[in-house]
Amino acid sequence: MPSDAARLDPGQANGEITGPFTDMVQQAGTLAWETVAANTPRDLQWPVLLLTACIATLFWIRRRGHGAKGADGRERKSSLFRYLLPPDIYTHVSARVDVWLWVLERILHPLWAVALLATVAPVTEQAMIECLQWVFGQSPALNINYAWMLLYSLLTLLCYDFVFFLTHYTMHKVPALWAIHKVHHSAEVLTPLTRYREHFVAGPIWATGGALSYGFVGGIFAYLFNGGITAATLFNIGFFSLLFGFNGSFRHYHVQFRYPRWLEKWLQSPTQHHIHHSYLRQHWDKNFAAVTSIWDRLFGTLYIPEKDEYTPWGIGPETQAEYRSFWQNTSGPFRDWYHMLRGAGLPQAGAEHD
Ligand SMILES: [Zn+2]
Ligand SMILES: [Zn+2]
Repeated sequence: MPSDAARLDPGQANGEITGPFTDMVQQAGTLAWETVAANTPRDLQWPVLLLTACIATLFWIRRRGHGAKGADGRERKSSLFRYLLPPDIYTHVSARVDVWLWVLERILHPLWAVALLATVAPVTEQAMIECLQWVFGQSPALNINYAWMLLYSLLTLLCYDFVFFLTHYTMHKVPALWAIHKVHHSAEVLTPLTRYREHFVAGPIWATGGALSYGFVGGIFAYLFNGGITAATLFNIGFFSLLFGFNGSFRHYHVQFRYPRWLEKWLQSPTQHHIHHSYLRQHWDKNFAAVTSIWDRLFGTLYIPEKDEYTPWGIGPETQAEYRSFWQNTSGPFRDWYHMLRGAGLPQAGAEHD
């Protein structure tokens, strides 16, 4: 009989005695597991991974082994296993650095996320409502129906995409910001975590953009409906994750997920983001938006790739060696800013865009 019933793991029905050290290790293990589970990005949760693998397998069957790229950015024929988990990509130093940059971002995330998200979106929303009240007077207090909810979703999407486009464009064109965003582009292979690969300074910038766009459209609709748009918001969230969840995931996979050419003029296919990550001159500063192709088309930065177009990823052979390790990527922007301040030149490596 165990002397201390409280030490019994409920899962151990056989009544095995657990010593204090085993107990501590188990508790630490549980804590570690819970922390990992709570922070695991949606793309890496098993149902999503499973569905992603199924979609990729369908591509493999349909294209008879073709349609995935290797670490060199060239399309190649491969066995199903290599198609889903190519060793040259998943053992690449860049894939490892993706993991550590993500861990660092997760650790620093709580320092800014709550304060930022709790302020930017509500302040923008409120400013928008007051502005509309000042211009148009009382709220028309419209009744929420599906048509309005759909419009709300659509406008939120377009506004979010536009702010994303603008932020991204600025990050490429302003040298001091390119120094930060370069970390996303220094990825030499694309993995599920490359989506989250950013310098820790970039997190608040992207989050502010998102919060601004949600606050802006949220404010307009709160005014139209005289407040209380929670129902529409819930619909909105479901609508988004369903339609664009996989689009977002596949943007940073080596498997090419394309749409018909006519659709790529309206919606950005994941393969169009392969172009954005290529260091070839003709691919620089192309396909900035997250979801639609509308903004890129309007601003002349849309690039629709050819079938199996070669897209070597990274910042180019000349400077890639300076942005390879975790430490190089973490300290890189500070190094670049220091050089800029001393007048020693702009951050190069693909930054001399014209
Ligand atoms: Zn970029
Ligand atoms: Zn990317």
